[in-house]
Amino acid sequence: MNGLKSGRDSDVITVTSPLLPNLDEFHALLKQVWDSKWITNNGSFHKQLEQELAAYLKVPYVSLFTNGTLPLITALQAMHISGEVITTPYSFVATTHALWWNGIKPVFVDIDPATGNIDPDRIEEAITSKTSAIMPVHVYGKPCDTKRIQEIADKYGLRVIYDAAHAFGVEVNGESILNAGDLSTLSFHATKVYNTIEGGAMVMHDEQTKKRIDYLKNFGFAGETTVVGPGINSKVDEVRAAYGLLNLRQVDAAIEARHQTAIAYREALRPVNGITFFEDMPGVKHNYSYFPVFVNAEEYGMTRDELYFKMREQNILGRRYFYPLISTFSTYRGLESSRPENLPNAHKMAESVICLPMHHELSSEDIGRVLNCIV
Ligand SMILES: *Cc1c(COP(=O)(O)O)cnc(C)c1O
Repeated sequence: MNGLKSGRDSDVITVTSPLLPNLDEFHALLKQVWDSKWITNNGSFHKQLEQELAAYLKVPYVSLFTNGTLPLITALQAMHISGEVITTPYSFVATTHALWWNGIKPVFVDIDPATGNIDPDRIEEAITSKTSAIMPVHVYGKPCDTKRIQEIADKYGLRVIYDAAHAFGVEVNGESILNAGDLSTLSFHATKVYNTIEGGAMVMHDEQTKKRIDYLKNFGFAGETTVVGPGINSKVDEVRAAYGLLNLRQVDAAIEARHQTAIAYREALRPVNGITFFEDMPGVKHNYSYFPVFVNAEEYGMTRDELYFKMREQNILGRRYFYPLISTFSTYRGLESSRPENLPNAHKMAESVICLPMHHELSSEDIGRVLNCIV
C-alpha cells in the first residue's frame, strides 16, 4: 500500500496520512514500558486500550489483534465456519482472502449501487445447502442494512461476520454498527481513520466469546499448560498499545477535520455534471474514512482513468478503491459467482470510482487544488 508519506515538504497531496501521536507523550509512555520491562503478552497498556476502545466504540468487548486480516481469519475459525460464505466483491482483497485461508468457498453477491454494500435482495438466491455464513463489509464506513441481513441469517440459520475495517466509530441512531451480527472486525492500519501503525481488533457481545478469542490469538493457550484449540499468534505489544492510547485521544478531532473536508468537497462538486458522491445518511454518525466520487464519462466528458491520471500529473494521489474487483483476481475469477453478469453493479462502481484525498491534515489550499483539478 502506498499513500503513507504525508508530503508536507513537497506539493504531493496523498490520499491518506497517518494520525500520529505527539512524540513527547509517546516517549513518556515508552519510558513506562521500558521501566516495567513488560513489552508484550497482555500488558497493562494492552488491557487499558481494549477497555478504552470498548468504551469509545460503545461495544461490550474488544480483543486487539496485530492487523485487520487476522481477526477475520480468527473469527471464521472461532465460529467453525465452513463450506460457502456469501460476501461482496467490492472490498479490499483481505475480506475474501480470509475465507480462502480457511478453506471456505467465497460466493460473491452484487452490491446495491446506492451504498456500495452487499445488496440484501440478492443474498437469498445465493444461499445453498453448503452456506454457513454471510460476510458483509461496511464499505467506506457506510452501514450495511444490518437488520435485513440479520433477518435472512436467522431464517436460514447462518452466522454473520462483518468486516468493519472502515467503520471505526460509526453509529446508527446512537448505537454502534459494530454491535451488529455475531462478530465484527476492525483494521487499525496506518491508512485507516484510527491507527496503531499496524493493528486491528475483533468486537464481540459476551465475555465467554471474548475469552475464547483471547485464547485463539495466543496459540490457544488458556493457561500455562492448557491449549484449548488451534490458535494463532496475533498478540499486540505494549509499544503499539501505548501509541493506540494516545491516538484514541485525538481521533475525534481527526474525524471532525475529515468531516469539514467532506463538506467542502460536496459543496463544490454538487453542481458538477457527471460527478456523483454519497451524502450523509440520516441518523448515522459517519467517520468520513473515505471520499469516493463516481465519474460518468459521458456526462463529465472525461473517463474515470483520464481524470485519475490528470490528478496524478498534478501530484494529487487519489486511489481507485475498489478497482479491480476481488472477483477478477486470478485466485477468484474462476468461481461461478465471479461471472461479470452476476455482478453488474459492482463492476460499474469499480470502473467509475476515485477516492479523493481524505485525511485530517488537508489544508484548504490542498482541498482547493483537488477541486480545481475536477471542477
Ligand atoms: C484495511 C482492510 C482490511 C485489512 O486490514 P489490515 O490491517 O491491513 O490487515 C480488511 N478489510 C478491509 C475492507 C480493509 O479496508
